[in-house]
Amino acid sequence: MENKLDGNAAAGIMQQIFAFEMTRVQATCTGCGATNPIGATAAYMHGMGTVVRCPFCDTALIRIAHGKGRYWLDLRGVRVLQISAEE
Ligand SMILES: [Zn+2]
Repeated sequence: MENKLDGNAAAGIMQQIFAFEMTRVQATCTGCGATNPIGATAAYMHGMGTVVRCPFCDTALIRIAHGKGRYWLDLRGVRVLQISAEE
């Protein structure tokens, strides 16, 4: 069972991993080259973790699994992660 939500749903778990504000992050897709804020992506949440997909080509940008006191983060679908340094 999984629930499809917008990418803001994934921002919460990613904030536990990354110290910076995830709403200021944009990801460039390896599949189609589109650049989108994390909140504009599609997030699929299920028991094993979270998958963030490109809204244009459906490439899995980010996969996050959580268990046994650690996170597994697969970013192979992200060509570039842009992080705004402005407050
Ligand atoms: Zn794409």
